[in-house]
Amino acid sequence: MRKKIIAGNWKMYKTNEEARQLVSALKSNIQVIKKTRVIICPPATALSEVALLLTGTPIALGAQNIHWEKEGAFTGEISAGMIKSVGAAYVILGHSERRQYFGETDEKVRQKILAAQGQGLTPIVCIGETLEQREKGITREIVATQIDQGLSGLTAAQVSRLIFAYEPVWAIGTGKNATPAQAQEVHEFIRGRLTSLYDQATAQAITIQYGGSVKPANALELLKQADIDGALVGGACLQADSFLEIIKAAESCS
Ligand code: PEP
Repeated sequence: MRKKIIAGNWKMYKTNEEARQLVSALKSNIQVIKKTRVIICPPATALSEVALLLTGTPIALGAQNIHWEKEGAFTGEISAGMIKSVGAAYVILGHSERRQYFGETDEKVRQKILAAQGQGLTPIVCIGETLEQREKGITREIVATQIDQGLSGLTAAQVSRLIFAYEPVWAIGTGKNATPAQAQEVHEFIRGRLTSLYDQATAQAITIQYGGSVKPANALELLKQADIDGALVGGACLQADSFLEIIKAAESCS
């Protein structure tokens, strides 16, 4: 059985002082975490400090983005090796906000996957359709293209070291989540696509998280779906109480 993975994407929120407060509140309730893999992804400025605060806890650390090159003249960018050196083990790649506001393409996501894995980081690869694409009935085509191009040239061994996050863009930060049935349908499609690109054992072993307005009130029903292996949480991870409730939902269906 696949282990549930709950990741919190802090986006561009939390100064270091606020980060300390949130981590401290999570640590006070650390007993909630039993079987679930919990990852928090603070802004780059807080990674070092949060890494130290998480020492000895079961909470893992992730970053929200990396550059695809190892190093170089890329002002303002951060490499996989740099985030690894401050204690991150995961990195979110291809988030829809990066695709939408920073022009991140599937090809760039593919290069970033290679850069991340080259440093031993586990990428959390985000895919998902916009509202317009869903209304046109092309969700499957969009997700299939993101998978095919984002993973182009990757071996089954490389793909088995990825986490996917299906995040319908229309559900991110909008309060409108996909229904459990809508999410399950796309998750099943993603696993099917991975089966045809690779093999059944690889596809069955891969974690596919759902993301898009996951809250304590809807987490359990989403996480109970056969192909939903966890959640990538934005807004609700910014307060310890709501993030812990989502972790509890994952624990109850592990
Ligand atoms: C996200 O940032 O990946 C996300 C899903 O955000 P939210 O939970 O706020 O919709």
